[in-house]
Order: sequence, then C-alpha cells, then structure tokens
Amino acid sequence: MKKVLILLGPPGAGKGTVGKRLSEDWKIPLISSGDILRENVKRKTPLGKKAKEYMDKGELVPDSIVTELIKERIKEDDCKDGFILDGYPRNKRQAEILDQILKNNTDILVVNLIADDDFLVKRLANRRVCEKCGAIYHLINIPPKKPGICDICGGKLIQREDDKEEVIRNRLEVYREKTSPLLEYYSKKGILKEVRGDQELNNTVSQIERLW
Ligand code: AMP
Repeated sequence: MKKVLILLGPPGAGKGTVGKRLSEDWKIPLISSGDILRENVKRKTPLGKKAKEYMDKGELVPDSIVTELIKERIKEDDCKDGFILDGYPRNKRQAEILDQILKNNTDILVVNLIADDDFLVKRLANRRVCEKCGAIYHLINIPPKKPGICDICGGKLIQREDDKEEVIRNRLEVYREKTSPLLEYYSKKGILKEVRGDQELNNTVSQIERLW
C-alpha cells in the first residue's frame, strides 16, 4: 500500500529537516510546497511572481496555485510507493482537496510536530538555507563545516526573507488561525499523532519511525 506521511506543525518545528531524514530512510520523496514555491519565485515563473507577494508577508499563497503544483508533483513516478508532505495541506480546503486526490489504497499518517513559540522564533532566526540546493542549517545546532557555505553543494547559505523576526510572528499567527484547525480534522479521522520537534533530531526521527 502507498504510504503518505503528512508533516504538520508550526514553522520551525522541524518539518523540513525531519522530513529529509525520513525520506532518506524510507526511500520515498519529500515534497515541500514551500520549496516548490521558492523554486518558482527564483525562476521568476508567472506563478512564482504571484506567489512571492504572499510569501514575503508570511501569508498563505492562494489554494489554487499551491494545489496545482502539488498535484503535478505527486503524479511523478517517484511518488508511486508514497511520499512525505511538508507544508501541504495548510488549511482545511487543501486537506479536503488532498483527500480527494489520494486514492483508497493509501495508508496516511499525520504527524504534528510541536514546540513552543519562543523556541520556534529562536530556531527560525538561526536557520540558514542553501540558495542553490535548499539544504537546511542551524547556526548553532547544525552549522556548516565552512561558515556561509553549503556542505553538500558548495552553494551560498542565506537567511530566508520570511525568517526575519517580523515575518516569523505573522507566520506563527497564520499557522494558528489557518493550519491548526487541521489538527482536529485529522484527529477526528483517527490518523493524527503528536511528536515533539524541539528535541534532538535523532529522537524526533526515531519516534516517528516507530509510528509506522
Ligand atoms: P514553508 O517553507 O512551508 O515555511 O512555506 C513558505 C511560504 O510558502 C509560506 O509562508 C506560504 O506563503 C507559502 N506556502 C507554502 N506552502 C503553502 C501552502 N500549502 N498553501 C499556501 N501557501 C503555502
């Protein structure tokens, strides 16, 4: 049966970092709606230009844009045995659309990564990403070998525009208002589990792996 893991949780809870590890262990792709959008912004596609206005403010990009991108991505061949979603769905409408897309022979697990706001703000402020390959670093906990340079591809490490403090606060509010209602949505379906995202990475990863 096809395995689909949905990673929920506020920005900075570790969805991208944890998702990458699980993707390597389970050999299924990690699909990050944020990464796909940022790639479109970088390439200045029509869709990317539209999305950028919302992303810079920490607001959600319209459902139609993101849904189209995700639908296309999960049609690809590497998703046939399953995939991990990071950042999608982000509101109830998207969750309903996803339910329609996923066929019956799919085993869905939703993991809510939790952490306190103060912790999230600190983690996001210290986050740096490779502008070339998207790899995620943390200045203190996961520093690159050479400052400012990606260990994997040698690309330049930058701070995401939306990881600046004012935008972080707005993203947390948007999360609380639009995304957190999904917890109830999935809890009612009986497929929601909670794991702490503010512990050592290996612990978070192994706790999720034990759930499946
Ligand atoms: P992320 O990398 O998941 O933190 O996403 C960065 C930004 O991309 C968000 O603040 C939103 O502006 C946009 N975004 C990512 N995923 C979605 C989604 N599923 N729906 C709407 N906007 C999204």
